[in-house]
Amino acid sequence: MASLTFLGAAGTVTGSQYLLELDRHRILVDCGMFQGLKSLRERNWARLPVQPASVESVVLTHAHLDHCGLLPRLVSNGFNGRIFCTAGTADLCKLVLPDAGRLQEEDARRANKHRYTKHAPALPLFTEQNADAALRHMQPFGFERPAPIAPGLEAEFLNAGHLLGSAYARVRRSNGDGGTLLFGGDLGRYGRPVLPDPSPGVACDVLLVESTYGDREHGTDDDGAQLARIVNETAERKGKLIIPSFAIGRVEEVLYWLKKLEDTGRVPVLPVYIDSPMAVHALEHYRRHAHELDEDSRPARGEVSAFSTERCIAVAGPQESRRVTESPGPAIVISASGMATGGRVLHHLAAALPDARNTVLFVGFQAVGTRGRRLIEGEKEVKMFGQFIPVQARIERLNAMSAHADGNEILRWLRTFPSPPGVTYLVHGEPPAQQVLKARIEKELGWKVHIPEYGERVDVPL
Ligand SMILES: [Zn+2]
Repeated sequence: MASLTFLGAAGTVTGSQYLLELDRHRILVDCGMFQGLKSLRERNWARLPVQPASVESVVLTHAHLDHCGLLPRLVSNGFNGRIFCTAGTADLCKLVLPDAGRLQEEDARRANKHRYTKHAPALPLFTEQNADAALRHMQPFGFERPAPIAPGLEAEFLNAGHLLGSAYARVRRSNGDGGTLLFGGDLGRYGRPVLPDPSPGVACDVLLVESTYGDREHGTDDDGAQLARIVNETAERKGKLIIPSFAIGRVEEVLYWLKKLEDTGRVPVLPVYIDSPMAVHALEHYRRHAHELDEDSRPARGEVSAFSTERCIAVAGPQESRRVTESPGPAIVISASGMATGGRVLHHLAAALPDARNTVLFVGFQAVGTRGRRLIEGEKEVKMFGQFIPVQARIERLNAMSAHADGNEILRWLRTFPSPPGVTYLVHGEPPAQQVLKARIEKELGWKVHIPEYGERVDVPL
């Protein structure tokens, strides 16, 4: 018997991390950062229940920070094994992790300078150097090829359609004995641009599946109608449209739709600033891995990329970023971070929020406790850089652009399994969504479902 301990993404949507123990072997599946509420973020500083040096390897499902963001800490605390992932994930981690380290260092510096910290001195969770050290442990593997994660144990990546390189990890013994565990990282969606549909399920004894939107329906695809309305209304007011966006994945989808709307004359051609060095680099990786993408996002004949509008401008340095902040509308600014918790988008928001001509459009999930969540809940002022900023701009959101499957899509994926797993664990979701999804899976599929708690340890057949 082996055991599995839920060290994160249990009853919450961030901090994915599962410890698999078998005989003397210890494997971590994902090593993600907690985001959102302070009580959650504090867990980022918690020690692993085992010595990092005793962990043999890490299996990484994809490059989102809530799945990979604590790898630098793991390595700086003594982990010395390999981090198995797909090539796309390794490429994106090269962008995500050093950038996160840099941001942590900047935030700590700023907090110390302006003394808005209770901790003296404020410390970064990890540094850019820690991130670089973690990257040296990455071991890219192709999809659907068994990777030797420990003696006698292998993991195989199946495309999850959630982000470039994103995967489910099938873990089992190399000799075919014992059970099969399927770690669904995050689940992508069906019939969307940019990424392919999730690969069908495979037979397994234990399944972990995300539940972020388990209680919701994203609504039918409106072919960009809502986005067109928002762009047009903002342009008529000569305002700016600020789109806080996850630098990777979402930017591609936003650009795909903006280009489509421009090409069909449904919105005016506006300057579209991409103010995120990471987003600009990620676009290059998406272009390079175009063969892994959905057909509609491969460049058409004579095109360099499917991800570029008529007047698309990659903002270079902080100086140019400031010029964009001060420039008049109409214009579109796409900048990170997606939940407005940090990054260059804060400067754009601080400048744009007090002006009613502007619009702030959220295109991704907004976790409890983030500025993004407070804005979509209609708060009249938000705190940034230690100051209160009044909110006069329009706040909009587009759920249809989520990278996460909704309740129906999760069920659709589960129906592709050749047989029911022995047990299905719901992870990566907040309790209300999990309860609804659990009830649906039990009723509609008759499967055994469990919602694990933070720190819960269960036996698994392996
Ligand atoms: Zn993700």
